[in-house]
Amino acid sequence: MVIPVNKLINKAHVFMGGTFDPIHYGHLRTALEIQQWLDVESVYLMPANVPVHRETPGSTSAARLAMIERAISGENTLRCDPREILSDRPSFTIYTLEALRKELGSEIPVCMVIGMDSFLTLDQWYRFDEYLSKCHIIVAARPGYHFKPNQKLQQLLTEHQVSEKSDVLTQAAGGILLHELTPLSISATHIRELLSNGLSPRYLLPDSVWDYIQQNKLYGSNEG
Ligand code: ATP
Repeated sequence: MVIPVNKLINKAHVFMGGTFDPIHYGHLRTALEIQQWLDVESVYLMPANVPVHRETPGSTSAARLAMIERAISGENTLRCDPREILSDRPSFTIYTLEALRKELGSEIPVCMVIGMDSFLTLDQWYRFDEYLSKCHIIVAARPGYHFKPNQKLQQLLTEHQVSEKSDVLTQAAGGILLHELTPLSISATHIRELLSNGLSPRYLLPDSVWDYIQQNKLYGSNEG
C-alpha cells in the first residue's frame, strides 16, 4: 500500500521538561504547536522531580503530576513521561537523555524542547556539553526573553545551529533549532503570585487545573 506523503508520521521522540508548577497554556500551546510543526505522533511533557536548576517548586510532585494529567486529558498528541518525577534521584537532564538513548537506540531523532529562558542558562546545566551528542535542542521563543546568548552558548550555536526542521528529523542528534511560536506571556511564577494575592489565574491555564488548585488549596488559594 502506498502511504500518501502527508500521512507519514515522523518518528522523532520529542519531549519538553520543566517543573510545571503549575502547568499552564504557555507549556501546552508550545508542546502542541511543536507537535504539529514537526508532524510527530506526540510530544511528551516531562515534569522534573527535584529541580536542580531552580528553586524548589510550590506544590508536591504528586500534585504537579495530577495537574499535568488533567491538562492533557483528551488530547492524544500530548503525553506525560513521569520518569523524572517518579525517580528518587535528582532530575539531571543528562541522565534522562542517557535513559532515552538506551530505550530508543542511537538512530531515532530525539528532540528536547526548551523555552528561551532555559536555553540562556543551558551552559550551567550538569554535563551540558554532552547533550548534543544525544539529542537536538529546539528553542521556543518566549516573550520577555531576548536572544542574547553568552560566549559559550554563542560558540555552541556557531557549531550546531540548524535552520530547517528536516535537519532535526533526519539526524539523530546534534542540532539547535530556534523556533517562533504563538507568543504567550504566561509563567507559573505569575500564576503563583496571583494565587498568593488571592487573585484568580483563570484563562491562563485549563479550568481542570484551576479546579484542582482550588480543591487542594494549592499555592495559598482558598477553595472557591
Ligand atoms: P516558573 O515561572 O516557575 O519558572 P515556567 O512558567 O517558566 O515556570 P517551567 O516549568 O519552568 O515553567 O517551564 C518548562 C519549560 O517550558 C521551560 O523550557 C520554559 O522555558 C518553557 N515555557 C514556560 N512557559 C512558556 C511560555 N509561556 N512560552 C514558551 N515556553 C514556555
